[in-house]
Amino acid sequence: MKLCHLGDKFISIVKNPKYGYGRNMNPCIDCRILMLKEAKELMNITGFNFIITGEVIGQRPMSQMRNTLAMIDKKAGVSGIVLRPLSAKLFEPTIPEINGIVDSDKLHAFNGRSRKQQMALAKEFGLTDYPMPAGGCLLTEPNYSFRLRELLNYNPNPSLKDLHLLRAGRHFRLSPSCKAIVGRDEKDNDNIESLAGEGDYILSVENFGSPVTLLTGDGSQDFINLAAAICARYSDAKHLPSVDVAFHLKSKKFSVTVSPATEGMIEKYRIQMPEKKKAALPA
Ligand code: SF4
Repeated sequence: MKLCHLGDKFISIVKNPKYGYGRNMNPCIDCRILMLKEAKELMNITGFNFIITGEVIGQRPMSQMRNTLAMIDKKAGVSGIVLRPLSAKLFEPTIPEINGIVDSDKLHAFNGRSRKQQMALAKEFGLTDYPMPAGGCLLTEPNYSFRLRELLNYNPNPSLKDLHLLRAGRHFRLSPSCKAIVGRDEKDNDNIESLAGEGDYILSVENFGSPVTLLTGDGSQDFINLAAAICARYSDAKHLPSVDVAFHLKSKKFSVTVSPATEGMIEKYRIQMPEKKKAALPA
């Protein structure tokens, strides 16, 4: 098996999809074209004859309608060589079927949004460990998409690190070039720490339960103080009038004393979907 990371090519279609977005920030048509183009390149290098995908006709409104699939194949230069075994009986035969490399009788005619047929087939094969229908692509998640849109507003060229960070913690926009990200649990804290770059500050309240907080962008004293106040607000020291917050830059360690951020400050700086902004803050 070869796993291809589409990194920068993918970021570029997410920023500017020729065929637009789905319900959230998912550029499904551009994404499918890109993946099939990559698969074709790999196919040519390795000497394989055709490509197989798990797509089902009509499963997704944007990218899996009959005409769209045909257009995607054409744009990717793979017409006739993409076998979609789950819906193959509903398409014109592909080259591998015509050539008898694939037994058409064993292919299926699944269609529509329901996953029942695929699930039944998986059961038949004894497959239980597969992603749930709604899961998978972060770009279809409203909250991730909201954060991504917000990021692109301020930084049209985000790095992979910036995109990975969108998955972790609570996010705060302190200035056009400065963000703080506060871990919600141990897993977030580990992720945030592991993603910290050279110029990023890592903050935490020592001697109390504390989230890891990453300050990225402009690390001037005002923003360090603000990030420290937000970090203190989510720590077990949040009821104290003043809190010592340690911060690290590279291997150096400093400390700052701040008052925990007020709810008003949290509301002001937090990057959150509007309806969630109204929800009560965690205790
Ligand atoms: S859901 Fe995500 S991975 Fe799937 S086609 Fe759309 S953008 Fe690509």
